[in-house]
Amino acid sequence: MAAPPRPELPPARHFVGGEWVEPHSGRTVGSLCPADEAVHAEVAAGDAEDVDRAVAAARTAFDDPAWRDMPPAKRARVLWKLAELVDRNRENLALCESLDTGKTRFDSERIEIPMVAEIFRYFAGWVTKMEGGVVPLPGENLGLTLRTPVGVCGLITPWNFPMLLAAWKVAPALACGNTVVLKPSEQTSLTSLWMAAYGAEAGLPPGVFNVVTGSGREVGTPLVKHPDVDKVSFTGSTEVGRMVMREAAGTLKRVTLELGGKSPNVVFEDADRKAALRGALTGIFYNKGEVCAAGSRLLVQRSIYDEFVEQLAAAAAKTTVGHPLAEGVRMGPVCNQAQYESVLRFVETAKEEGARLVFGGRSLRDEVGGGKGFYVEPTIFADVDPDSTLAQEEVFGPVLAVTPFEDEEDALRIAHHTRYGLAAGVWTRDLGRGLRFARRLRAGTVWVNAYNLYDPGLPFGGFGESGFGRDLGRHALDAYTEPKSVWVGLT
Ligand code: NAD
Repeated sequence: MAAPPRPELPPARHFVGGEWVEPHSGRTVGSLCPADEAVHAEVAAGDAEDVDRAVAAARTAFDDPAWRDMPPAKRARVLWKLAELVDRNRENLALCESLDTGKTRFDSERIEIPMVAEIFRYFAGWVTKMEGGVVPLPGENLGLTLRTPVGVCGLITPWNFPMLLAAWKVAPALACGNTVVLKPSEQTSLTSLWMAAYGAEAGLPPGVFNVVTGSGREVGTPLVKHPDVDKVSFTGSTEVGRMVMREAAGTLKRVTLELGGKSPNVVFEDADRKAALRGALTGIFYNKGEVCAAGSRLLVQRSIYDEFVEQLAAAAAKTTVGHPLAEGVRMGPVCNQAQYESVLRFVETAKEEGARLVFGGRSLRDEVGGGKGFYVEPTIFADVDPDSTLAQEEVFGPVLAVTPFEDEEDALRIAHHTRYGLAAGVWTRDLGRGLRFARRLRAGTVWVNAYNLYDPGLPFGGFGESGFGRDLGRHALDAYTEPKSVWVGLT
């Protein structure tokens, strides 16, 4: 491949109070491209002082009439304009995203960045519809409920869908009239910085949308603990989610947690096999399996099990792994070295615990990357014991665990044998069964004859150790508003 195009990068600074500001530390850190392990951008190394400054800017902006009293229709237009700027800069944003994360250019440019713009448009539509209610009270009294913004929101996002997951939080938070301090993953900060800059260009008053870059310890923790932050919305691992909840308890903040998953994707013998096969493959290999809702446990009915496993292996063998910007590539490198090593360790553990490797399992660093890059083969294990590590732990990589089941009850039992509850899929031509499953499965999202599809109008979030609260849909508005009761005496 010829030298990859170079994106236009945001300044290596924070975005605070409507402008680019130097980090207090004076330091920057390199952002590595997982395809060649070279530093392709620098980002500011934030610390608690930067968080203080950003929170102060957000607090001032929250109290300022320029934002507080902005007419709803105007606020909606600002969000709409932000969406247009995302669309207009789609190619550059996609380059930043693909070089930061290793996801293919197709996925960034055609799927994720356009979806970011759609999310802003969706929530722009809600701004003028944030109605309260009227409650009957005894006597000459009138009860009103108003929806008021929560205040300053600290938003923390992971590295797998950097701009998309930031949009899931920023768009509803702003639509509801809050101000925000966004802390993206230190590995993938570029598109969040651009998003804040577009916000300012679109007409957000200074301080409404701030971004502080840096590590979880140096920026995330001070943001979560900050007494002037009213709400934290976090997407990331279950382990860090637990820490966030503890850190937020000191100031009794509102908390939304979107955490990990080990989602079951269930294929019945009466399923449309071709569609189920495609769904099983995109369920685990989309974005190299670095998807919180990845269908990483595939449960297949015994009567079609052997044939289905064979077809899976044959299809996985046809998956083109390569540089995220190269034409025709379906799977880029996993996002970082720690992830690469962890995925390969899971493969070894699965072999040791007796799972049957039917395809993949190797590093492709030499073969595909010429000795560099975090390339891993799409990998399929069959006959995976539901108690084993591979069936219980989130790999967050392109490794599928396939397990047979006998009947509906057996499928449900295995599907529920997990501490998570983020998503699930079911493939069957029997719609009654599909809906029965959807009703009984303990998961925040259930796809029936589909997998890994999202819409701004459908809420997303988890049961169990996948977290609580919902992003997207009208439910996200509840996460960023507080109901207020007003009692009006009429005499
Ligand atoms: P992570 O938990 O390591 O980090 C997430 C974010 O939290 C990063 O910005 C990080 O810097 C920050 N952070 C780390 N320690 C912190 C602390 N003590 N206090 C505050 N912030 C801190 O997750 P990751 O490795 O970036 O992402 C992968 C994980 O995210 C997976 O487990 C995946 O399932 C999960 N995820 C969940 C969803 C969802 O919607 N449920 C979506 C995408 C990813």
